[in-house]
Amino acid sequence: MAEAVHPAMQLEWDTPLYQQALTQLDHALELAEVPDFVAKRLRAPERAVILNLPVKMDDGAYSMFPAYRVQHSSVLGPTKGGVRYDLAVDLGECAALAMWMTWKCALLRLPYGGAKGGVRCNARDLSLGELSRITRRFTAELAPFIGPELDIPAPDMATNEQTMAWMMDTYSMQKGYAVPEIVTGKPVSIGGSLFRHEATGAGVVMCVERACERLEWTLAEQRLVVQGFGNVGGIAATELHDRGSRVIAVSDISGGVFAPEGLDIPTLHAHVAEHGSLEGFERGVERITNETLLELECDILVLAAREDQVTGANAGNLRCKLIAEGANGPTSNEGDRILAERGIRVLPDILTNAGGVTVSYFEWVQDLGRLFWDRDEIRRRLADKMSDAFDRVWNVSEERGILLRDAALVAAIHEVSAALEARGLYP
Ligand code: GLU
Repeated sequence: MAEAVHPAMQLEWDTPLYQQALTQLDHALELAEVPDFVAKRLRAPERAVILNLPVKMDDGAYSMFPAYRVQHSSVLGPTKGGVRYDLAVDLGECAALAMWMTWKCALLRLPYGGAKGGVRCNARDLSLGELSRITRRFTAELAPFIGPELDIPAPDMATNEQTMAWMMDTYSMQKGYAVPEIVTGKPVSIGGSLFRHEATGAGVVMCVERACERLEWTLAEQRLVVQGFGNVGGIAATELHDRGSRVIAVSDISGGVFAPEGLDIPTLHAHVAEHGSLEGFERGVERITNETLLELECDILVLAAREDQVTGANAGNLRCKLIAEGANGPTSNEGDRILAERGIRVLPDILTNAGGVTVSYFEWVQDLGRLFWDRDEIRRRLADKMSDAFDRVWNVSEERGILLRDAALVAAIHEVSAALEARGLYP
């Protein structure tokens, strides 16, 4: 089916991560039984924007930053997805992540397709002024391709509320009036939604809770390990801690901390707030590497760092019973195969981390309606959406005897396929 894609474009995004997304899709397409034109359409993104951003640095020199925005499918509505600032950003990564956003939005029954973008840079080495200039230049160059009815960016790795505020301001200045609905994940003061910041991590924990119910486990009795202590892992760890669960290890890029009796999560957050990372935290914990953390004996492993963490190299060594994918693409296809053989269940990313984009959808709806909901209302609506999607995935997996990842993809593909078939091909 490769002939469906312009060869030059395909070369650019045909990276290992895109292959991972494609292999998952091809396997799910065999199970989903959709028309051939649907399969062809979904194997490649609709549009990819490649930019080269000139930015003046604090020392007066100019630097060039490669940047991308990939829109995978607009059949269900405007495309939606985050913007990441990371040295690994390339077209293939954005294309894979955009495809996963299509499945995520479709699975949650949000009226969106998938997109993802990013700037190749090391955000930790950049000043606030440099980050602001990169973001504003990116937004200005992207302006013809984004819009509240077209493509709506949001935070992702190393971007945050401030990044979204700069994007919203740049777009609004060009329009001549405030356009809060152009991005989600903004500060509440300019039209952001309550509970958006916590939404991804809270959604992960809602899925873990639901899985425990189905497996007849008591969450409070489980030992949990969380890889990643940022927007997703940090919040998930807090939500788990608040429920009285025992989080025995967490990590960030500086390494991990381990305490078999359970970590004091609020103290760890206080340390990160003061020092920027977990580095230097020694009190009552054993310092471990990220590699060791993944292989600790535990009940539930939450992967909330980045892609490609559980692979053919380490899946055989994992000592957990259940994995929850808070990050996008943290398990490689070979990793998946080994985990399946070993009977370790995986709550897949497109379900487990969908809390973020779901509250992004609520934020966009509130912005468009100029009417804002309280925190309890948003939390309740999120819980309803997450448990509805969770039940559909779990039931399909049980009924058809397929992996949860395949069940989630099949459910998502059916949503997109129904829309593609109903709309037909233009002209
Ligand atoms: N970047 C997040 C994700 O991967 C959120 C996207 C959004 O809110 O649009 O799901």
